Amino acid sequence: MRRQAIYPGSFDPITNGHCDIIQRALMIFDEVYIGVIENPDKKTLFSIEERIQMVQALFKDSARVHVEGFEGLLVDFAKIKNIYTMIRGLRAVSDFDYECQMSHINRHLCPQLDTVFLMTDAKYSYLSSSLVKQVARYRGNISQFVPASVESVLKDRYYE
Ligand code: ADP
Repeated sequence: MRRQAIYPGSFDPITNGHCDIIQRALMIFDEVYIGVIENPDKKTLFSIEERIQMVQALFKDSARVHVEGFEGLLVDFAKIKNIYTMIRGLRAVSDFDYECQMSHINRHLCPQLDTVFLMTDAKYSYLSSSLVKQVARYRGNISQFVPASVESVLKDRYYE
């Protein structure tokens, strides 16, 4: 049986921190399904199509990584995929409260669902998509924070 997991997130945009979690997950799981969330309540810089495209471009040569968008509850996406293991990244204790709540709510909605938490490399522990966007908006150097293809998309968006 292949070990599969879903890594859900907004990925607005995907950063080196997310990529680090995906690489770590691939050491534990045979296949990782990256679930790009379409949340109408959350204003994103990039559309769902753009976010999926950026992630797909990065993992086009990895047969073990799949990228899909989804709207609605994570548990419903889990049921559609028939995969009940979620991966979430932890940067610091500050992530833990929210992640703990999410994990319990998800388990309440779907008792067979489990969340596996992976710690990012220390060098990405301060990194977030929103920070990257702030720096990019003011033309700061983001080359250490995101893959080159994502950097170029961000520059196109902000520099015009
Ligand atoms: P969400 O809106 O669901 O939090 P994000 O795209 O912000 O979506 O994050 C997706 C997942 O990646 C979350 O588990 C988050 O904690 C994790 N994550 C975000 N940035 C990093 C990082 N620098 N290192 C490790 N994990 C991260």
